[in-house]
Amino acid sequence: MKILVDMDGVLADFDAGFLKIWQMLYPEKSFIPLELRTTFYVVDQYPAELSDLVRQTIAAPGFFLSLEPIMGCVNALTEMRQLGHEVFICTSAITFFRNCVVEKYEWVEQHLGKEWVKKLVISKDKTIISGDVLIDDRPIVAGCVTPTWEHILYDQPYNREVSEKRRLNWMNWKSVLFSAAA
Ligand SMILES: [Mg+2]
Repeated sequence: MKILVDMDGVLADFDAGFLKIWQMLYPEKSFIPLELRTTFYVVDQYPAELSDLVRQTIAAPGFFLSLEPIMGCVNALTEMRQLGHEVFICTSAITFFRNCVVEKYEWVEQHLGKEWVKKLVISKDKTIISGDVLIDDRPIVAGCVTPTWEHILYDQPYNREVSEKRRLNWMNWKSVLFSAAA
């Protein structure tokens, strides 16, 4: 099987990392607890007057590299490869890409090892990347072509309204991935 695995919100804990830095930098400002997050983009759930500050925080040097791996993800990727699957990390860069892109490579090298750097694919449009499955936390992954992959949701508080897709986390991924598609 060719498995594409998204990075933010699937391997790298974007939401927890954002909240930690946000509260450290702006302890007096309002924040959204992780379990109450309902929008895919963090900025969309914050008051409009804080939008620029939220975007600056995410675009700042060191943000992407500082994200912690989501528990279980390193073992899951290792095991997928051991089981003989072809695995690629399939991620998009933010519009303010200057720090994000290089830090994504650094993150993969640091947390997964040099070999995985060769498996990193950065594309705004994931539909043009072929695969059997795409594990992604984004509720809808759309692009210019009909994808070859099945989108399996990586479970997050902000995608729970989506009910028609299979959903997994790094505790139950094997039973979901290797059960027949719904
Ligand atoms: Mg993501």
